[in-house]
Amino acid sequence: MTERLRNGRLDGALVDVTISDGVIVGIDPADAIPAPAGMTITYLDGRVVMPPTVNGHAHLDKTFWGSPWRAHRPGRSVHERIAHERAIRAEESVPQLPRALALGRAMARAGVGAIRTHVDIDSLVRLDGLEAVLAAREALADAVEIQIVAFPQSGVLADTGVVDLMEAAITSGADLVGGLDPVGIDSDMSAHLDIIFRLAEKHGVGLDIHLHDTGHPGLKEIEEICVRTIALGAQGRVAISHAFALGSVPISEMQSTADILAEAGVSVMTNGPVGTTPPVRALRAAGVTVFTGSDGIRDAWSPYGSPSMTAVARQLSYQSEFYEDIDLETVADITTQGGATALGLRDYGIRRGGPADLVVFEASTVAEVIASAAPANLVLRAGRRV
Ligand SMILES: [Zn+2]
Repeated sequence: MTERLRNGRLDGALVDVTISDGVIVGIDPADAIPAPAGMTITYLDGRVVMPPTVNGHAHLDKTFWGSPWRAHRPGRSVHERIAHERAIRAEESVPQLPRALALGRAMARAGVGAIRTHVDIDSLVRLDGLEAVLAAREALADAVEIQIVAFPQSGVLADTGVVDLMEAAITSGADLVGGLDPVGIDSDMSAHLDIIFRLAEKHGVGLDIHLHDTGHPGLKEIEEICVRTIALGAQGRVAISHAFALGSVPISEMQSTADILAEAGVSVMTNGPVGTTPPVRALRAAGVTVFTGSDGIRDAWSPYGSPSMTAVARQLSYQSEFYEDIDLETVADITTQGGATALGLRDYGIRRGGPADLVVFEASTVAEVIASAAPANLVLRAGRRV
């Protein structure tokens, strides 16, 4: 089947995109080439065409999406919130798989082409969450690509047996090894990093480490992760999620850490939290890959969240105090290409000969897509409507 998307705005220019059998076969100036008789025409009226967005940090196993609204139970510390989550989980009546599926599907419809989801692995939930997310991944394979991180939500030292469970998770289909605040949760940076890096090395997989620790101790942890990444030869396959430390000190004090991140090819994920958003402009200027993700959506950690990555991108822009088009466009790049680079996605981007994976947003410029958190009008994956 051949289809033409007529008069869309791609990289600032008005174009016609022609698709045949799931592949982009033409990108031409709008109305330059007459459509052959019988070709399906979809009129975009100048709306923005972008590659699919990338949700580089989600928690599909934790969400209450699809369940009745649940009042948030606050916690004063990470430890207290972990304890709350365990208690709330025991009360939840809707099984995990329908919730993970509902949220994954909502993300795909909102224009997300790839999701990296961290799945809790601890001695209480064991591999239950992983099994639900593996099933969701299979069910949604035609709509969205899903990467799974084996995430030790309760630490790797404090929770005996979690290392064996993480290993089982990797052999069962998880793609990356996770980690969590080596100092803040496990109080032993070397022991925590020894374990997770050894696991990644043994199975030849990458790492994505949650790091909420702030200030200079947090920077020290980031630098140690970079040193170990280089030693492992894993440049380009390691990410640090949140990296609050980078946003908790003046830019002049994080500059040398940014240079080390760039040298080690370690990417940084931020969803634009209040007060601790890493300085994305300075990081990108240093050569660091920055990407973004929703983090948890409507779960024990937060009642907030949207399946749309343009909503996340707007929050990141707002917290970064970005107002000019050039900065909003930077966040659009972080939300698309930045995620694709960090996740190692193949065949990403809109080009002739590439897969017809694209999103049409209800906006007339890329800056407007971000500032307005534009909804997706049309989502194509291999030329088919999602
Ligand atoms: Zn997270």
